[in-house]
Amino acid sequence: MITKTVAVFPGDDASPEVMIPTIALLEKLQLPIEFVYPMVGDEALSEHGARFPGASKAQVDEADATFFGSTSGQSTEALFYLRWGKQTYANVRPCQFRPGYRSPMANPENIDFVVVRENLEDLYLGLEGDLTALAGLNLYSKHAKTSLKDMGTGRYAIKVITEVGSERVIRFAFELARKRGGQRKVTLTSKYNMLAKADGYFREIGYAVAKDYPDITFETFIVDDFLCRMISNPCALDVVVTPNLYGDIFSDGAAGLIGGLGLAPSGCYGADYAYFESAHGTAPDIQGQNIINPTATILSASMMLTYLGLNEAGNTLEAAISSLYAAGQCIPVDQGGNAKTSEFFQALNDALGLT
Ligand code: ATP
Repeated sequence: MITKTVAVFPGDDASPEVMIPTIALLEKLQLPIEFVYPMVGDEALSEHGARFPGASKAQVDEADATFFGSTSGQSTEALFYLRWGKQTYANVRPCQFRPGYRSPMANPENIDFVVVRENLEDLYLGLEGDLTALAGLNLYSKHAKTSLKDMGTGRYAIKVITEVGSERVIRFAFELARKRGGQRKVTLTSKYNMLAKADGYFREIGYAVAKDYPDITFETFIVDDFLCRMISNPCALDVVVTPNLYGDIFSDGAAGLIGGLGLAPSGCYGADYAYFESAHGTAPDIQGQNIINPTATILSASMMLTYLGLNEAGNTLEAAISSLYAAGQCIPVDQGGNAKTSEFFQALNDALGLT
């Protein structure tokens, strides 16, 4: 009996090479999920006169979640809708080592933390332009001791940290630390010394929220110090919460600690919606070579199954991935093996007892 609907965007460049076989695998697991494929990009433009038409938006709205393949343009409007339209404010990016991953660390065994990246504000609002547009504001830099209007030709980008946006994502991080039941620790990081007003505000809100969670350890580090700690002692981390841009950067760095972008899943959660995608982009440089590592996409699917209440299936998928890497016989190219993408999927199907 079908009880859940998932909207699927296969994505651009190399993305479909991992998205389509992942859906095929989920179909074989005979889960109570119906997959729908909203039309986007050039195809939608020629048929419906828009790159992300109302009918596609309605399919996203009616779905319980979206499974999103990275885009280099065709589904960008859909992605913006999934973020700002659906208010998916918490981007969760787990960083967990599994034996068999090609980590550059000497002792990666206990690396198991999650980056919770604020997903909707900071420098990602698209508020950019020419400096001349700000001339009338008479802004003065007390650091550079100059007026903005005297700085010559240039551009600006606005960083926005709101109370509501920060509070909800920090609370999400504390709830996650409770749910994970690991070190029960939240580490907040921002540039709260140089950007005392904006990033300092994020930290201030962190301390306020922390009062509601006396059972969870709370610590804060300035981003540069944090990055050094993340690299030198990643096992000390449990849940990390940070504004959008830092989270984008740190989560790719975190993926590097365990073996690279091919291993990094991601889920973006709002109050009543979530979408799931690998943390990596469309990997255009390896498109068509049958070597893109599907692990990030499959683990994102596992996160989605858990979100949909299909915890057992999510755990099964994750366990199958762990067992493949532990066995070491079918290791993707980016992890130092020679398994093609299709061979990895075949091995995963076999491990799950699927034909
Ligand atoms: P974006 O800006 O959307 O994050 P990008 O082009 O900066 O995209 P990616 O597409 O993530 O970055 O690719 C960065 C590098 O990592 C590329 O060399 C790519 O081939 C590699 N890469 C990314 N994902 C995978 C994967 N799943 N398997 C193997 N290599 C990957």
